[in-house]
Amino acid sequence: MVFETILVGDVYSRSIVVTENSSVYDGIVTLFIEDVGTIFVVSENNILEGAISRKDLLKAAMGSKNSNEIPVSIIMTRMPNIILTTPEESVLTAAQKLLQHQIDALPVVKIIKVGDQTTFEVIGRFTKTNITRLFVQLAEK
Ligand code: ADP
Repeated sequence: MVFETILVGDVYSRSIVVTENSSVYDGIVTLFIEDVGTIFVVSENNILEGAISRKDLLKAAMGSKNSNEIPVSIIMTRMPNIILTTPEESVLTAAQKLLQHQIDALPVVKIIKVGDQTTFEVIGRFTKTNITRLFVQLAEK
């Protein structure tokens, strides 16, 4: 089946990230400016620390008068609970992860191993839009 042979690396989009000390307000502005539904939170060198969805930001904004004062690190879903993918993974496996975990986006990462420590550098995002675009491209061929 074609979705098993096409890889995440063939279809993913550029990453949209904020740093851990960014505020909820910054996160909301990024969401609008970049026109995305999920933002990934990174530390130095683009290392993956967490994810924030539009509903996470909506909840935080509704629960507080000053979204400028709340750092995204307080509301994000954090590592090691982030479901991720790599450019080498098949689009089918990545799509199955989205469905299984009921999420809209996966960070595409490069795995970095130093000694016994493994970190994940964010290099892109894989979303339902990538799957829809691929579906249409294949159908139109
Ligand atoms: P929304 O919350 O806007 O419906 P999602 O369904 O993508 O968007 O997110 C649901 C929850 O899962 C949110 O709390 C979010 O922080 C978290 N989340 C989003 N992406 C991931 C991911 N790749 N791995 C783990 N958790 C995620």
